[in-house]
Amino acid sequence: MTGLIQKVVYSANGQWPSIFSHLGIDAPSSGKHGPCPVCGGKDRFHFDNKAGRGTWYCRQCDDRNFGDGLDLVSKVLNITLYNAAKKIAELLNVEPSSLTAEEENMHSIKLSRQRKMEAKKVRNQRRAAAKRATEIWENSIPASPEQLYLRFKKIKPHGIRQLVTPVQNGATCFSPGTLVIPIMDHENNLISLEFISCGMKQGLAGGMRKNGRYILGDIESAKHIWIVEGFATGATIYELTGEPVVIAFTANNLNIVTTSVFCSMREAMISIAADDDPAGIKYARLAASDGNARIKIPPFNPEHMLPVSSSGKRELTDWNDYFAIYGERRTLEALYL
Ligand SMILES: [Zn+2]
Repeated sequence: MTGLIQKVVYSANGQWPSIFSHLGIDAPSSGKHGPCPVCGGKDRFHFDNKAGRGTWYCRQCDDRNFGDGLDLVSKVLNITLYNAAKKIAELLNVEPSSLTAEEENMHSIKLSRQRKMEAKKVRNQRRAAAKRATEIWENSIPASPEQLYLRFKKIKPHGIRQLVTPVQNGATCFSPGTLVIPIMDHENNLISLEFISCGMKQGLAGGMRKNGRYILGDIESAKHIWIVEGFATGATIYELTGEPVVIAFTANNLNIVTTSVFCSMREAMISIAADDDPAGIKYARLAASDGNARIKIPPFNPEHMLPVSSSGKRELTDWNDYFAIYGERRTLEALYL
């Protein structure tokens, strides 16, 4: 760590909320949950601000989902730690001179101890979540084709399950009938779950989603593989095309899943059936360039692209929505265009 970074971390201690607001970073108050300034969402981001260090973690971000105030500034502004430190140094009027040797030493010992402890905590959390995922999965039954969400989306269950008893997940209690989708790692081990109930989707608390996937069909001998964000889109595309589909669960997981499929399935062509929203398109583009894939975005007519709320959110964004409006023939045409 350079002298400047250390000095900034040292000087910024206890001042992170005001630094964030000066830099236009929207973080919840200390100790509170809220939308994540990196990946959005509603309440997955927790600003715990431990020891005034601006610490945070996000249950939705997949790529390094925790850190201190400096990490957050660097992630949100998409700049290096050093450039983030420079920005904060300007703000706090910190001279870029180094700390004394003793201060520097003390600080780096403290910092590395804290980082190790945090990493260990996350590892333990993920191990416990994988164990809980297995218990919940084993206590669930195969999803009925008549389940409300499946009927509403006009899709089949494809091996997913539904709860028989209520499950508490963080602050949410999922009732019997909630859909349970397994999240597997690249070696096909169950690492987490996704719950879908009344249109609400939530990952298992503490579970890992990075590089997690659920595969419909057989990708081993496939010539063409589809990669999508959500289960409903995946089921629609699998049912229409008969080609295998890899569900990546979140937009920011598309990249790592696509790269991983690309590396293990060199012969297959890969298409990303992206959601037509800013995050979906941004991450699909990234995934396509890293994983040598093509992107298919549902070509909605303008009248179906109107926002439904003042926040600018649209109701119809994915390929399942597209299929619901335009039907099988037009969806297949658009997918293979
Ligand atoms: Zn996040």
